[in-house]
Amino acid sequence: MNRKTLFSKLKRIVVKIGTNVLTTSNNRLDTSIIEHIVEQISYLVKKKGKEVVIVTSGAIAAGMQILGWERRPKKLNMLQAAASVGQSRLMRVYERIFREEGLNVGQILLTRDVLTTPERRLYAKNTLFTLLKYRVVPIINENDSVAVEEIKFGDNDILSSFVVDLIDADLLIILSDVDGVFTDDPKKNKGKMIKEVKEISKLEELIKVGAPSAKGIGGIKSKIEAAKFVTSKKKYCVILNGKRNYCIKKLIEGEKIGTIFYPQ
Ligand code: GLU
Repeated sequence: MNRKTLFSKLKRIVVKIGTNVLTTSNNRLDTSIIEHIVEQISYLVKKKGKEVVIVTSGAIAAGMQILGWERRPKKLNMLQAAASVGQSRLMRVYERIFREEGLNVGQILLTRDVLTTPERRLYAKNTLFTLLKYRVVPIINENDSVAVEEIKFGDNDILSSFVVDLIDADLLIILSDVDGVFTDDPKKNKGKMIKEVKEISKLEELIKVGAPSAKGIGGIKSKIEAAKFVTSKKKYCVILNGKRNYCIKKLIEGEKIGTIFYPQ
């Protein structure tokens, strides 16, 4: 099956947007990139009839910007305060841009225990399905301002993979600031990009994984972890460079960009 046909069949999509995509090099929320991503997601919903759920990072970064903190704090209470301030800013930006596109958004903040307690999991799932039914775009983040180690997902790559499983989505698109998975850290050394992963168990032998980024907490390792989980559930996963023009649109229209992971 060619890529275009494949993507036309994948109806329910989770798009994970990382902090490095959403912020400029001086740590400020990059509203022009958010506008561009929202425009593409709106196109998927309005023109292609897809159901899209967003998992967004950027709350802590946005909070740091508002509070004038230059370095990401280490202390939990400081991180939680930044997330609390930043989350509402982040939602205000999404809400405004989606409204211009004629779409409503709904915020959902999750912690791991919500998805591991059967009853609460069911409620979260029902809420998400109801939002989708009314063509609202759900925007999920981890509930950072109250999450502590025991109830944390780790990072939003992992959270987004759990969301795929929760709502039985067909595809996870992870937007990062690299073009895909490389055999070596593309920001430091010249690695080769791996375009397709058919056997994920062989991937780890091929690559050297870089350290998590300074702004977010994910890094390529957790993206592969997320891809592993999603593909074990027979879903597709693609890692794309969210900073590139029309990356989502191009992917869905069949262009061979990013790294695609096939269901295992
Ligand atoms: N939930 C965090 C935030 O919104 C980010 C977590 C991550 O980078 O994976 O800032």
